[in-house]
Amino acid sequence: MKVLVINAGSSSLKFTLFDMSNGAEQVIASGLVERVGTDKPNLIYKRPDGFKQEESPKVQNHGDALKAVCAKLCDPEVGVLKNLSEVTAIGHRVLHGGEKITMPVKVDKGVKDIIRECFPLGPLHNPANLMGIEACEEIFAGVPNVAVFDTQFHQTMPPEAYLYAIPYEYYEKHGIRKYGFHGTSHHFVTDSTAEFLGKKVEDLNIITCHLGNGCSMAAIKNGKVIDTTMGLTPLEGLMMGTRSGDMDPAAVVRMVELGSTAKEVDTILNKKSGLFGVAGIGTGDMRDIQAAALEGKGRADLALKMFVRRVVKYIGAYYVLVGAPEALVFTGGIGENSKEIRQMIVDAIGCLGIRIDAEKNNVRGKKCVVSTADSKWKAIIMPTNEELMIARNTLEVLGIK
Ligand code: AMP
Repeated sequence: MKVLVINAGSSSLKFTLFDMSNGAEQVIASGLVERVGTDKPNLIYKRPDGFKQEESPKVQNHGDALKAVCAKLCDPEVGVLKNLSEVTAIGHRVLHGGEKITMPVKVDKGVKDIIRECFPLGPLHNPANLMGIEACEEIFAGVPNVAVFDTQFHQTMPPEAYLYAIPYEYYEKHGIRKYGFHGTSHHFVTDSTAEFLGKKVEDLNIITCHLGNGCSMAAIKNGKVIDTTMGLTPLEGLMMGTRSGDMDPAAVVRMVELGSTAKEVDTILNKKSGLFGVAGIGTGDMRDIQAAALEGKGRADLALKMFVRRVVKYIGAYYVLVGAPEALVFTGGIGENSKEIRQMIVDAIGCLGIRIDAEKNNVRGKKCVVSTADSKWKAIIMPTNEELMIARNTLEVLGIK
């Protein structure tokens, strides 16, 4: 039983093909088409045996990109399928489901209408996500499509968590509120942490930290999100690779008054801020920032300190909201791989009765406890796998076992 997972971005189409037979949950091929719609599209095709191929097919839109991917998957020499009918179902990552979507759903006209209604909330991603779905409907006629939304896991937040303290009609008329993102990742690590700790999800109280290029945290009480750092868009909350995170909204007004258009400020806050904007060394990639901080380059050290401080502030807030959680969970490229960042964060919250175990923490990408045995609660690394979560959700929605 094979499930194809599609993540269609504004100029890219990522894919992962899983064999889900008998609980196998094995990736059998993956890759992406990037620069869709430009004169230099690029297809990267990978198999888990280490085989990798790169080529430049003629690709003008997401439909062409998907056709190029399908041709690869069925290629007699390098492919992994005899034909497309081997694909049982397709799962799609969709950014924004607004308030109406609280769980993964089988795609029909009503679901597509909701994705369209949410275009203003996810102007770059939702149209591309819909294009990905429509391309699959055309090419895989008769194969069910399931949409898994980045916002859905956060829909359990109470109004006091998701409302902004602005005139209520902005919420009622325009849907301006906190939605939260990275939901599929927070959901996956929540389920995995419950399993790892041998607990039922509904009894689990944790703080999840997804620290990657984009960063977000969630306060999980009884297995459900009660607060999260990202907001109306993925810009709110933590400091990220190129995104500002929290700031005084009046600073945004001031930036406009200083001469930038609203669109320019949006680009500055999303693409030129965060680690990139502060460090001033031409990158927002954490590996480079850490290396530069050690060499004393630019303001990399300051950027690192700001990054950690923001996470620590939210841990303090969520510790109280959740009520003495049992674990602090690290995931995402930075959370899983950077022992230094984990150490800086846990060192800074020692007053909450937790200490890092330097030896246990000396790992990358491995599911394990990294706090000392005498800590009052645990720090854990839990590698995320959003694609697998989407594949699992897809089969669940369709009732396929
Ligand atoms: P993601 O968006 O989850 O793929 O995470 C990407 C981020 O993880 C980038 O900022 C990378 O620099 C960072 N990252 C990956 N490996 C490491 C590492 N070993 N140490 C520090 N940061 C890392």
